[in-house]
Amino acid sequence: MTYPIVQIRSDFPILAKQINNNPLTYLDSAASAQKPNVVIDCESDYYRQEYASVHRSIYTLSSKATVRMENVRQQVMHFIHATSVEEIVFVKGATEGINLVANSWGRQYLKPGDSILITEMEHHANIVPWQILAKEKQLSLRYIPLLPDGTLDISQLPALVDDSTRLFAITHISNVLGTLNPLSELIANIRAACNAAVLIDGTQGVIHQKVDVQSLDCDFYVFSGHKLYGPTGIGVLYVKKALLDTMPPWEGGGSMIRTVSLTEGTTFNEAPWRFEAGSPHSAGIIGLGAAISYIEQVGLDNIHAYEHKLMRCMLEELQQVPNLTLYGPDNRIGIIAFNLGKHHAYDIGSFLDQYGISIRTGHHCAMPLIASFHVTSMCRASLGMYTDYNDINRLVAGLMRIQRLLR
Ligand SMILES: *Cc1c(COP(=O)(O)O)cnc(C)c1O
Repeated sequence: MTYPIVQIRSDFPILAKQINNNPLTYLDSAASAQKPNVVIDCESDYYRQEYASVHRSIYTLSSKATVRMENVRQQVMHFIHATSVEEIVFVKGATEGINLVANSWGRQYLKPGDSILITEMEHHANIVPWQILAKEKQLSLRYIPLLPDGTLDISQLPALVDDSTRLFAITHISNVLGTLNPLSELIANIRAACNAAVLIDGTQGVIHQKVDVQSLDCDFYVFSGHKLYGPTGIGVLYVKKALLDTMPPWEGGGSMIRTVSLTEGTTFNEAPWRFEAGSPHSAGIIGLGAAISYIEQVGLDNIHAYEHKLMRCMLEELQQVPNLTLYGPDNRIGIIAFNLGKHHAYDIGSFLDQYGISIRTGHHCAMPLIASFHVTSMCRASLGMYTDYNDINRLVAGLMRIQRLLR
């Protein structure tokens, strides 16, 4: 099958825009993806035609909105192959999902002397919540270091894992290098060596390939809707049902309760609703459902195969640019980090922006990873399902122009 790139690009209205008198070349999908019409229309139609408070009322609009929102829970369950809708918690995004695990599960089950294992390539969202918890509960935080090629140094694992290891939290795909971590192998090793829970930061994983939380055998999997072509402000935390049922609430308020009494206290709702205090972002949830339907219609396998070809092309083209340093493994998914000569990444980024080319520059919310390469910043170009060969050609032409003009 040929990939319907022309049709797909026409589904994303922003791609037709001119930026600084040039066609938009959007190469920052790893930070946030653009939205197709079906997502934009779904949210605005919901507000125009069907909006009401959910989970509260008996009237028609409210119960319809509640059904639509709860249907998305089912859609997400199928999308990541969970076993039950009761394993799907709606959160603001990956960041909130990880903080929920730290504050609920972590506070309840971790005790002084326990250790948490992460990696040197984590996004700050999968470092800082554990640092805060470690300080509060006197835990130790250990990390698997990076090899110069941008893969994890798995040979260090035996020295890092022991009876104190209670959590292993790792990104599915690096948001800076595009490294795909060998999760099955790592999780099997961890399970054999200790009794740790496993959390996967799937923010970059779920957008590029099919995810199956059951075959991964993880306890927690988190991702953000806005990187999956869906709305901002909505994300998903998957938790294995048996574990979620034992976890205490972390935020109190409406919806998460069963009964509230000023004299006798509160009894809590069951999971997952116990973890969704307050009025949910129903428009975001419904928009996320539209994004998942759209992706499934194109097919994640097709998207993956197409992006793989683009990536090979982009790697080859970038290697033609003099003085360009590439970071990360040869085999990567969706993301290329680089620097050009002695130029600061910000200078590269603002030069390219004059030609309508949007790349990310800086530390990419992964300062420990950047530091391990002994640099202070990198440029990053990332692919989405709508990226095409013109985007790559414009990026390469822009970098060549910098070589000529900025010496
Ligand atoms: C973007 C990203 C996050 C944070 O996602 P938010 O949507 O900002 O909560 C966490 N981890 C990875 C790997 C990311 O790429």
